[in-house]
Amino acid sequence: MNKPYHYQGLIERYRDRLPVADSTRIISLCEGDTALIRLSNIEKIIGHGIELYAKFEGQNPTGSFKDRGMTMAVTQAVSEGSEAIICASTGNTSASAAAYAARAGIRAFVLIPEGKIALGKLAQAMIEGACVIQIKGNFDDGMRIVKEVASAAPVTIVNSINPYRLQGQKTAAFEIIDALGRAPDVHGIPVGNAGNISAYWVGFSEYAAVTPATAACAYCDDVCHYEKAAVVDTRPRMFGYQAAGAAPFVLGKMVDDPETVATAIRIGRPQSWDLAWAAINESGGAIASLTDEEILQTQRLLAEKEGVFCEPASAISIGGVLRDIENGNIPEGSLITCTLTGHGLKDPDTAIQQSRGGVIEVPAELDAVKRAIVDNL
Ligand SMILES: *Cc1c(COP(=O)(O)O)cnc(C)c1O
Repeated sequence: MNKPYHYQGLIERYRDRLPVADSTRIISLCEGDTALIRLSNIEKIIGHGIELYAKFEGQNPTGSFKDRGMTMAVTQAVSEGSEAIICASTGNTSASAAAYAARAGIRAFVLIPEGKIALGKLAQAMIEGACVIQIKGNFDDGMRIVKEVASAAPVTIVNSINPYRLQGQKTAAFEIIDALGRAPDVHGIPVGNAGNISAYWVGFSEYAAVTPATAACAYCDDVCHYEKAAVVDTRPRMFGYQAAGAAPFVLGKMVDDPETVATAIRIGRPQSWDLAWAAINESGGAIASLTDEEILQTQRLLAEKEGVFCEPASAISIGGVLRDIENGNIPEGSLITCTLTGHGLKDPDTAIQQSRGGVIEVPAELDAVKRAIVDNL
């Protein structure tokens, strides 16, 4: 028999680089350790000697990267004696908060925007027993209220302004380097509230033993200093992508009425503004926007050419780097990794609406099915 190996989640795996004490009770669903999928079919289409990988975060327990941050944030909240957590969410944070709260035996309150939440995400928060509060407003309204409520009631905020979230999320950068044996040249990532791009930069910097921007350290306060030997000697350029209707970083100012089919990044007032700019500028990266049409086209491309089904917000990272390869912003021969932030099953409505396949209806007879096959070969 092979030596038994039971993966126990990212805190156990990267414990020496995370702010947890030996005696801390870990709240985990075995998150992390997601696949780094080489997109060899898309590589053939784009050429230019590009090597392209997707870090498929849809494989996390609740179907998005939010679990990486939530295991840390809830572990910390419970260790501090907190009995309730709260977040504003476009959907995935609430699904994740609900799951980890259930696991820990504490209460989760989640504020979601009216009408614009993908069905899968709502279903998760509901069955996992969160108290779901739908506000007549958008994510940014929810975020503002959560910050006010948390100072008035005994609840811990688990949005990405909680520095433990970013600490957990930085482990995705570790996993990429551990898998490749080197840092990528470019990392592409969707940007909404901008916590994740900031967390990846912390992770990539930590593995290169470089202290990231002062802004990052001030923000993380005492929890981001884990001075260890360098694992690699380079860091990738960070390429962030936003939806055209919700692109405050591209416009250089906050957006009042963000709108996009990619509901996970429908955010006009990103909380990690300075951190994200530090990641982009320090790394020599860039920020750009894609239209909803480009986002959905890329979601389809990934599904049809690679069998990878991610949610629309996730596809923007691949769509963005493909365009930046084409227009020369990313040099030939680059090794590129992209984060696919969430699973496509989160938002089945959007997938069905734009899928080209359709469904063929026939009588329950051999001939009819044979004809359908011949017609569609
Ligand atoms: C939360 C989320 C994002 C945005 O991440 P930020 O850290 O807010 O920038 C992107 N895609 C998906 C699927 C998400 O759930």
